[in-house]
Amino acid sequence: GRANIGVVGLAVMGSNLARNLASREGNTVAIFNRSKDKTEHVLEQHPEANFVASFSYEDFAASLSKPRTAIIMVKAGRPTDFVIDELVKVFEPGDIIVDGGNALFTDTIRREKAVRETGINFVGMGVSGGEEGALRGPSIMPGGSDEAWATLGPILKSIAAVAEGEPCVTHVGHDGAGHFVKMVHNGIEYADMQLIAEAYDLIRRATGKSPAEIADVFAEWNRGELESYLIEITAEVLRQTDADTGKPLVDVILDQAGAKGTGAWTVQTALDLGVPVSGIAEATFARSLSSHPEQRSVSRELPGPSGTEVLSGEDADAFIEQVRLALYASKIVAYSQGFDEIRAGAAQYDWSIDLGAVSKIWRGGCIIRAQFLNRIAEAYDAEAELPVLLTAPYFVEALGRAQDAWRHIVSLSAASGIPAPAFSSSLAYYDGLRAERLPAALIQGQRDFFGAHTYRRIDKEGTFHTLWSGDRTEIEAEDTH
Ligand code: NDP
Repeated sequence: GRANIGVVGLAVMGSNLARNLASREGNTVAIFNRSKDKTEHVLEQHPEANFVASFSYEDFAASLSKPRTAIIMVKAGRPTDFVIDELVKVFEPGDIIVDGGNALFTDTIRREKAVRETGINFVGMGVSGGEEGALRGPSIMPGGSDEAWATLGPILKSIAAVAEGEPCVTHVGHDGAGHFVKMVHNGIEYADMQLIAEAYDLIRRATGKSPAEIADVFAEWNRGELESYLIEITAEVLRQTDADTGKPLVDVILDQAGAKGTGAWTVQTALDLGVPVSGIAEATFARSLSSHPEQRSVSRELPGPSGTEVLSGEDADAFIEQVRLALYASKIVAYSQGFDEIRAGAAQYDWSIDLGAVSKIWRGGCIIRAQFLNRIAEAYDAEAELPVLLTAPYFVEALGRAQDAWRHIVSLSAASGIPAPAFSSSLAYYDGLRAERLPAALIQGQRDFFGAHTYRRIDKEGTFHTLWSGDRTEIEAEDTH
């Protein structure tokens, strides 16, 4: 029989997504891969799956019922363009091409526009959860047209992760909205991971506890308000012993963090939009700093503070609780900044994005899945247009509860020379938002001094310039910013 859905690209993500689709009642899945060995391998390994395999784009198109719907899962970038070009040749108006790869949202906007001109629908779709998620249920963030969503929605709902009875998929918005939201998801993931890593480092260096002991701390935290997939796997990683050396695995892993670029995209986009995602930026930069061994080796002898005492007993316990609170507060900031970027992106690109719905589809399947996302959903349910997420009552209460500990941990990290860039920058952001007056006034004065960039006043309308190189009187100026 004909297939109701197809997958192009059968590497780990595509083959797992195809198996997930085939495992759902009523689906027959057309599969195609550029090199035929992957297709043959998938058929061989999963004879039970309801697959219709093809070895050319023509046969692939012919194996699909109309409207044809195909999900592309190939290497992001040029390969995706290549596959789209091939599919456009063999598909017809009304058919749907879905890109489930990690595309940059501006590429998706470009592709959607080009494909739409042929009458074919194009959907850029963020997929999170890695290979396991693809197989058992990812969090899915589709963009594209309402028409495409009408066909695609029910299929995606059937394969998505389920959180509290709801499938982790929503029509995020038009064209690039899905990939934009997936990008920010990854940025938040960077921040969350960095915060957890800083918490571990602080506890280890301030209390001298072993990785296995700290694993117990994280396991305990995972039973409270920090409950999340990332905290859970942190405990697993810290508990792992290296078979070769008998040491904690974390002590034999090279301390240089890799990155595939989605964190950098989130930060670059935020810079363009003028959104301060300082937590995500610090997390991305912390990975960069770690990955310059030549710079680190020549810097090892830089002066640092003289030795600080190692905490033990009740002092250590109290310190660990303060780190927990600081982590929670910084996490609230990181998520608030991420949602701010989505809000700004939606305004810039004319997407109507339901921020509460986004937080709900992240509750399952994806890397940042957490209890905490329910609190975000509640905040946006109460006030959809909330300008700053962390000002929602629940978060104000949590930040109030955490702030003393947070400040203490940030000072201690500075005093003891333990880097905590994400903790520190989150606190600085928080205090920046809170400030009655910011030294931005001085910046404006400087800008006016050297560049006649003008300033506005707190007490009257208009734009002003001081004649700095003249008699220093103030004149009303043309608004040039
Ligand atoms: P890869 O990113 O490693 O891509 C390999 C696939 O791309 C193969 O099927 C390969 O075909 C195909 N391909 C490469 N170039 C071309 C081309 N010019 N024409 C046709 N096909 C081509 O696979 P993954 O499964 O790891 O990821 C797939 C997509 O999913 C990527 O965009 C990735 O960013 C995204 N993603 C990955 C996640 C993960 O955890 N890995 C999570 C979420 C998204 P061939 O066999 O012929 O070489």
